[in-house]
Amino acid sequence: MITLIGLGPMGQAMVRGLRKAGHEVTVWNRTASRAEGLDATVAPTVKDALAASELVILSLTDYKAMYDILDGETLQDKVIVNLSSDTPGKTREAAKWATDRGATFVAGGVMVPAEQVATDVAYVFYGGPEDVIKKYEPVLNVIGSVKYVGADPALGQLFYQAQLDIFLTALASYLHATALIEAAGVPAAEFFPYAVENFNTVSYFLDEALKNIQQGNHPGDAANVIMMGATADHITITSNESGVDPVLPYAVKSLYDRAIATGHGRDSWTSLYEVVKSRK
Ligand code: NDP
Repeated sequence: MITLIGLGPMGQAMVRGLRKAGHEVTVWNRTASRAEGLDATVAPTVKDALAASELVILSLTDYKAMYDILDGETLQDKVIVNLSSDTPGKTREAAKWATDRGATFVAGGVMVPAEQVATDVAYVFYGGPEDVIKKYEPVLNVIGSVKYVGADPALGQLFYQAQLDIFLTALASYLHATALIEAAGVPAAEFFPYAVENFNTVSYFLDEALKNIQQGNHPGDAANVIMMGATADHITITSNESGVDPVLPYAVKSLYDRAIATGHGRDSWTSLYEVVKSRK
């Protein structure tokens, strides 16, 4: 038996996947009607939901919702797997909170949207006690392939956020670039295939970035900071001239400006890492 608390799109998809894989599932949700149509046992109270299983999976908007639901309940010997997103700091606090109440705490970050939960492409970053995650791996693998990233629960959350850092910025960049195109009177569809090609090839540049980050040295033989920074400047100017919001390219341009100011002008673009890695 598995208990799952939280029946937003993600929680519902998890229940469907777990049932399809043959697991018995007990659910509880603040808004009871969200359990309608799910082939699961609906617990009338949180207490009943907790009593049903050792493994308690949470799929909630954030960690505050966990306290709203579980505060005051008996958590002794429960294995709480929180698949809600929040900050690594909040995750560490939650791990201590749960452990102080006799529970084992695991944090996970689900890396796919609801429609891909419990499919072959789904994966989830997990941080927490390795033996517990191993014990429940067959169940957790149903939701998404288990990617264990360390004993600190906050690491599961951090890997999730790092991936979302790339994802959100990349998606915003596509929208910004499309706005530039449309501001010139060209339909978005004409630019679309080129944007797709760009997204498909951008990972090519990551090998060089990783190598330079690892060696702490950024030889600028090809694309150096002055050249790339000039391009970032051109995009910012074009944004302003087109009446398109310049905040996104300006943020990138400011990184190049700071890299030049700190002597990286002739280094590779990867030397922006030396600028972004510390908050001045
Ligand atoms: P939603 O925010 O739609 O719903 C999550 C659940 O949280 C709902 O069942 C809601 O209950 C419950 N909830 C929120 N606040 C409280 C509270 N204070 N007390 C009790 N219950 C509460 O989330 P999703 O299902 O979309 O996502 C779940 C988590 O997964 C989120 O942390 C999200 O960031 C993450 N995620 C989402 C993805 C997606 O594509 N949706 C992809 C990857 C990760 P009620 O029904 O009563 O409102």
